[in-house]
Amino acid sequence: MLSNTLKNICFIALVLVLVISCYRKQYPVIVKSIILHDTVVLRLPSVPIVTPTTTNPIDSLLYDVHTAGSPNFNLRKPCFVIIHHTAQDSCAQTFYTFSLERTKVSAHYVIGRDGSKYHLLNDYLRAWHAGVSKWGAISDMNSCSIGIELDNNGKEPFSGAQINTLLLLLDTLKKTYNIPTANFIGHADIAPRRKDDPSVFFPWKLLSEKGFGLWQDSIPPSINVDSKFNSIEALRIIGYDISDSIAAIIAFKRHYMKDESSKTLNEWDKKTLFNLYKKYL
Ligand SMILES: [Zn+2]
Repeated sequence: MLSNTLKNICFIALVLVLVISCYRKQYPVIVKSIILHDTVVLRLPSVPIVTPTTTNPIDSLLYDVHTAGSPNFNLRKPCFVIIHHTAQDSCAQTFYTFSLERTKVSAHYVIGRDGSKYHLLNDYLRAWHAGVSKWGAISDMNSCSIGIELDNNGKEPFSGAQINTLLLLLDTLKKTYNIPTANFIGHADIAPRRKDDPSVFFPWKLLSEKGFGLWQDSIPPSINVDSKFNSIEALRIIGYDISDSIAAIIAFKRHYMKDESSKTLNEWDKKTLFNLYKKYL
């Protein structure tokens, strides 16, 4: 009897030693949160560093058989800003569209005609505003960009109040995420076959003067373009998808010439393009 009791005590002691030993070796746990409207809405799972979960609740490939972890990570930052017009008549219409799951569209910000700014999605989340698009070698613009929608039907000028709010927002985004000056572009630039926003009314020149996007220099009429200059190649170097060269030309002229009625580059357009593409070399 005494022998059995002693055995039980030894067994319990052994278990306690093992538990305490394992507990001390337990690696720290990482908890990350995403904030939306100042409220925690998505708490990423607590993941022991050395034992990643074999199922992943986030849209990602599953962990493979061999796994290892690291505490050294954070959420990825945006490095582009894509500007849109809503092509609708009110912010309310846009919010309704974005509220419907079936539309599969959203944006990080909406700016009203009166200059009101609405923050819809956390900047670190992947909004669905770019769709099928390409800029340079990047074929998934949603993953690297902030989408800003301007309440505008596409056939009207943008109000001063709206542009002032936009400039303030762009300034904050550029400083916060260290976004390069050249990476402030329009939806039509990255999807020239599908999109025409923002329209020819959008003040790209003003934006460039404030540090958002590149613009051509004042070009003397006497300047000569190199005879070997390849216009389509220059569009590609700037970032345009030239798989449809006509669409790329129209997008370029809408952005830099405020003209979307022509499918060809005249001599002045070529001089502008020649001046501009060198800024991207
Ligand atoms: Zn758009």
